[in-house]
Amino acid sequence: MAQLVINGEQTAARSGERLPVINPATEEVVDHVPKAGREDVDAAVAAARKAFDAWSKTDPEERARIIREGLARVKAAQNEIAEVLTREQGKPTFEAMGEIHHFIHGMEFYADLASKVRGAYAPLPAALGKSYGMVIRRPVGVAAAIVPWNFPLTLMGTKIGPALVSGNTVVVKPASTTPLATIRVIGALNEAGLPPGVLNVVTGPGKVVGEALAAHPDVRRVAFTGESGTGRRIMEIAGPHFKRVTLELGGSDPVIICPDADLDKATKGVLIGRFWNAGQACLASKRVYAFEEIYEKFLERLLAGVARYEPGEGWTKAERPKIRIGPLHTAQQRDEIVDQMNDAVRRGAKVAYGGRVPEGRDRGFFLTPAVVENAPHDSRIVQEETFGPLLPVFKVKGIDEAIKLANDSIYGLGSSIWTYNIRWIHKAAQELDAGMTWVNQIHYGYDELPFGGVKASGIGREHGPEALDYYVEMKSVVVGDLE
Ligand code: NDP
Repeated sequence: MAQLVINGEQTAARSGERLPVINPATEEVVDHVPKAGREDVDAAVAAARKAFDAWSKTDPEERARIIREGLARVKAAQNEIAEVLTREQGKPTFEAMGEIHHFIHGMEFYADLASKVRGAYAPLPAALGKSYGMVIRRPVGVAAAIVPWNFPLTLMGTKIGPALVSGNTVVVKPASTTPLATIRVIGALNEAGLPPGVLNVVTGPGKVVGEALAAHPDVRRVAFTGESGTGRRIMEIAGPHFKRVTLELGGSDPVIICPDADLDKATKGVLIGRFWNAGQACLASKRVYAFEEIYEKFLERLLAGVARYEPGEGWTKAERPKIRIGPLHTAQQRDEIVDQMNDAVRRGAKVAYGGRVPEGRDRGFFLTPAVVENAPHDSRIVQEETFGPLLPVFKVKGIDEAIKLANDSIYGLGSSIWTYNIRWIHKAAQELDAGMTWVNQIHYGYDELPFGGVKASGIGREHGPEALDYYVEMKSVVVGDLE
């Protein structure tokens, strides 16, 4: 039975209450987790606060060693963890394995950086007497990692990796619907020798556990991934305490396909970019703008590709050439996608493929992936985030129109362009309002490069050595007369 991990110990919620975790493919209960409350958050933060003094002074190479040992344990249990992830989240087994590999890769990236967090030396003018300056970097303290359900492990790794290697302690709050693989992984990291209290996990409703963490005076850093509305709420709560907050929020990534693009590669990029994880990804390719010269050819390839997806249980394989696509994560998630699609259709759009509950699927939250043409640009499918397998495609006359429409969104997370024309690449890199632009590449969050959004897609960056900046505070030291 899954439990909280507080101060290195597995424990129930103080209230004794539990929450069911539902399998999105069968609607059956997978397991129960503790429904924690404020007292549990207080206990976890107190444990993390107590552990901070020693952990922040621990040799960085020793911190990295323990994390690597934990990762070896995760690797050894990867099949079992992938199975749990598939059952609680819905994603196919091969995607769950991909997520575990991505998690391990990202954590190793930060373990390698543990001994490379360093400051600076500055010679100073002698006006006030002989002195020199140093910039030292100190861990912030207790960090809260609030994680959504779409990529429970990788989005936890982007937070606990930089936090732990740089000497912070952490309380993780997973999404209520996907706590099980997270608890398993945190258990493995603790068993590898993390001192008690360094890495804790508290499960329970976001409104209670998440808000208690964001408000707790001993939590100095809040790393959040989730919806823009929740991010706004977290800012409201954490702001008055002057906490270090980063928000990785929603996106509506545009893809521009130019006439010279390699259409086979572009189509594959759009298919994977849009339908991986049943379309439930912040950086998914959510709108396509194809030049009119190649629009029909692209659409033909796209529809042939979409038809290969076969909705089904993530733990069963599709027979080639079919590709497995799992269910949506919740019934509400599926209803929202269908509502967004119907809104566009009511306003004149045409469904070119899909968007239906597959026949015979009265259990589970399945939906055939959908492609929509001619949606009005002010309709919900364009202006809201579509967090599911739904793709509007548009015909554009040229690069200026493509960039104008691409930027017509409150979001600014990712964006991409498929072309070999250096002027268009340059223009896209300079003018697309987004935290990231991929050129002839699938939308993917590399561990090596800073990733995050502009506009309503959030503030701050995860990934890359740059993410460490949010977990260490700079302190300037002036050393005067030592002689
Ligand atoms: P939510 O914002 O609903 O939930 C995210 C996390 O916040 C969950 O752990 C949730 O807990 C918790 N939470 C909910 N309400 C509060 C609150 N009032 N205070 C504190 N914490 C709270 O997002 P989703 O889970 O629906 O995730 C999907 C969203 O995440 C999408 O918009 C997606 O685009 C975005 N996302 C962004 C990424 C990025 O890097 N920019 C990457 C991946 C996803 P509980 O489950 O208990 O409600």
